[in-house]
Amino acid sequence: MKLLSVNAGSSTLKFRLYEMPEEKILTKGSFERIGSTDSEYTIRVGEEKIQKMVELNDHNDAVHILLDELINNKIVKSLDEIEAVGHRIVHGGNKYSKSVEIDERVLKEIKSISDLAPLHNPAALSGVEAFKAAIPNATMVACFDTAFHQTMKEATYLYPVPYEWYIKYDIRKYGFHGLSHKFITEKMASMLKKKPNLIICHIGNGASVSAIKEGVCIDTSMGFTPNAGIMMGTRSGDIDYSIISYIMKKEERNLEWVDNKLNKASGLQGIAGMNDLRDIDRAYLANEQKVVLAIEMYTDKIVDYIAKYFVKLGGRVDAICFTAGGGENDDIIRKEVVNKLYPLGVTLDTAKNKETIVRKGVEGIISGKDSAIPVYVLATDEELMIARDTYDLVG
Ligand code: ADP
Repeated sequence: MKLLSVNAGSSTLKFRLYEMPEEKILTKGSFERIGSTDSEYTIRVGEEKIQKMVELNDHNDAVHILLDELINNKIVKSLDEIEAVGHRIVHGGNKYSKSVEIDERVLKEIKSISDLAPLHNPAALSGVEAFKAAIPNATMVACFDTAFHQTMKEATYLYPVPYEWYIKYDIRKYGFHGLSHKFITEKMASMLKKKPNLIICHIGNGASVSAIKEGVCIDTSMGFTPNAGIMMGTRSGDIDYSIISYIMKKEERNLEWVDNKLNKASGLQGIAGMNDLRDIDRAYLANEQKVVLAIEMYTDKIVDYIAKYFVKLGGRVDAICFTAGGGENDDIIRKEVVNKLYPLGVTLDTAKNKETIVRKGVEGIISGKDSAIPVYVLATDEELMIARDTYDLVG
């Protein structure tokens, strides 16, 4: 069967059309800058990548163009061939511990928790509404970024704040990047032929670390929102919350201004003045002092979480896994992190680390033969995770 895997952001829509269960990608592409006059989209047709500028008022326009392109390029003969659409939904709140078929009740519930992810959930819902209207016979499936982390226990997900905040407003740790952490967990489970104990480092622009015990998430670094945990490309991660009111007073600014700084001008950006790890690495090799400092801080934060999760897993860790854009391709960050793990008996095979670059098609183990815990570099695939979950529900 054919199904679409869709990731809709506030001004973007990424898609892949799969033939399942073969997991064959029939086409893929993305719409950028939806809602502005210079929107554009790309779609792969065979070996060719078509790129066009168009005016896209909203997600509805994008969905119609996408479906027209599928027909015009004979990728499908009729839209009826698309039996399901799996949608990435960032926040599933307390309610969803797995992917679900979207009916009127689910739609209402996702809307009701939009407060928890005001930038992300409404955008994803626009995608759902647009596909529902355009291909009403296809089953819509919601795949939540929070679902995989719903197995954390109360003592882990509660914050030490007035308990009534949890009861009244659902204030708790949710965790994000769940589709990626689940994908890596399943990949390792099939490679090791067991329900593994893992520490997974998803190092993209956003970044999170998870502790997996016997295939189930027991803790993760992101929290009530994706702003918590380790230092990221432009987000601060964990800080002392008192800084917020202090800076508001000193700079005579409102909360939105500080919030924006912590989200978009902090992390690597805040310290090094740049956030893309490729730029950071070039500057690091040129020994730029701010960048050297930023990398020391960045890798310290990752190591803090690995050490904490090592203890939480009772010292029984089958593998430490690096994934996402940075984790898959950045041998400098990996080297700095692994070198700091020497008290745990973790060692690096420097040559393997250098040649294991997912972008060049190489995955695998980068730790030394004597390492107490093997360290893996693995490609994640959130779109495929959406497709698998959707197929499991519909196929
Ligand atoms: P996100 O979905 O959070 O944007 P990705 O998983 O796509 O994250 O990762 C994007 C990040 O990965 C980039 O900002 C960059 O820092 C890093 N990255 C991508 N390619 C490379 C590379 N070849 N070397 C080092 N870092 C890379």
